[in-house]
Amino acid sequence: AALARAEEREQEIHSFLSIDGESALKRAGEVQKQIEDGTLTGPLAGVPAGIKDNICTRGMKTTCASKILENYNPTYTAEAVQKLEQSGAVVIGKTNMDEFAMGSTTETSYFGVTRNPWNPCHVPGGSSGGSCAAVAAGECSFALGSDTGGSIRQPSSFCGVTGIKPTYGTVSRYGLIAYGSSLDQIGPVARDVTDCAAVLDVIAGHDNKDSTSVARGSYDFSGALIDDVKDMKIGIPRDYFGSGLDPEVKDAIVRAAKVLEEKGADVEEFDLGLVDYAIPAYYVIASAEASSNLSRFDGVKYGYRAEGYDGLHGMYKKTRTEGFGAEVKRRIMLGSFVLSSGYYDAYYLKALKVKALIKQAFDRAFERYDIILGPVAPTTAPKLSSSLDDPLHMYLGDIYTISVNLAGLPGMSVPAGYDSKGLPIGMQLIGGCYKEKDIIRAAYAFE
Ligand code: GLN
Repeated sequence: AALARAEEREQEIHSFLSIDGESALKRAGEVQKQIEDGTLTGPLAGVPAGIKDNICTRGMKTTCASKILENYNPTYTAEAVQKLEQSGAVVIGKTNMDEFAMGSTTETSYFGVTRNPWNPCHVPGGSSGGSCAAVAAGECSFALGSDTGGSIRQPSSFCGVTGIKPTYGTVSRYGLIAYGSSLDQIGPVARDVTDCAAVLDVIAGHDNKDSTSVARGSYDFSGALIDDVKDMKIGIPRDYFGSGLDPEVKDAIVRAAKVLEEKGADVEEFDLGLVDYAIPAYYVIASAEASSNLSRFDGVKYGYRAEGYDGLHGMYKKTRTEGFGAEVKRRIMLGSFVLSSGYYDAYYLKALKVKALIKQAFDRAFERYDIILGPVAPTTAPKLSSSLDDPLHMYLGDIYTISVNLAGLPGMSVPAGYDSKGLPIGMQLIGGCYKEKDIIRAAYAFE
């Protein structure tokens, strides 16, 4: 059914970069046998999934939506995907994204844009736009995305699906092609909270192959699916409701807060602080890490190599000039600049200090509140090609999501209504470190 649906919708939506229907059906047959003879049980057995194309899959190309990895076939499968496969999920294909996960609209993909299933004149958001559009269009039951600065939550919000960015260290990054390693996390995108929790139960876990992986006491996220928010303390940052926020988005979030209040939660406004510093700090840190991580794409070890070059340095230069798109080059240059001697202290080190202060601001807030509630993005999904010429404007759209990555916290996007154009609006729930269960519980009660 998922493959048939994809056949119907892909021409217009283009949420997948590759679909391997034959392997998927073969795998589904094997899973069915295992279910019948009782060797495989669990909620994901036989469930069709999409995987963002920056997550390595052996036997399926993994391109990061970049020309430089156009024909890259990984020799191994990411830990998170391996866990999904062990639990019987059936991967049907790899989903489109912004090139190397840099962007907020899925328009920087070398292989063409993905369209929003709710209205194909609009973007699906990004960078996990393909994963979110695929779930919204019913082409798979869930998908994996990655979130460095909102890339699961923002497209989930724009596509009317549910997405969770777990606490840093919860899901192994082994096999996730690095963008900003200190911020990157893999997480689930699904139709509702229950499905997201079921996927997170499976993909979370300690992994020796990722040195930042954390061994947690419990991975039973589904255990938080209880319809009860009585006495839960919810803080709403006043600073998230300034002039940049679309009034329709604001109204939807205020309504959502009322619903939770009526269900017995204790809702209160507060000043989080430092909100204006999150974007500059994030773009300095993420670009710095990206410039270092992307140095491995040099035409020698992976993927594309230019032809007709002059010497080794000529080969590097021509390969990278031809292989990377404009946004990726912009980040590499910005990152190299802020890390260069003379500017390191002024920019990179300063950004790390701001990051520490942002973390402290959240720590203080979580002394008073169980969760923080606010918008995911200032607007609903913009029209196609309205963001590309103005990168700074695009970066500003990340204001509510990126501080969560800087602080390493769990955050999720939950559908909270529609604007007057019929486009979905998401609300964001942010939890304390390792407190996914609090946001899952509130999201479930809200749904
Ligand atoms: N818009 C953010 C960026 O471009 C999103 C990144 C992400 O989460 N992958 O950096």
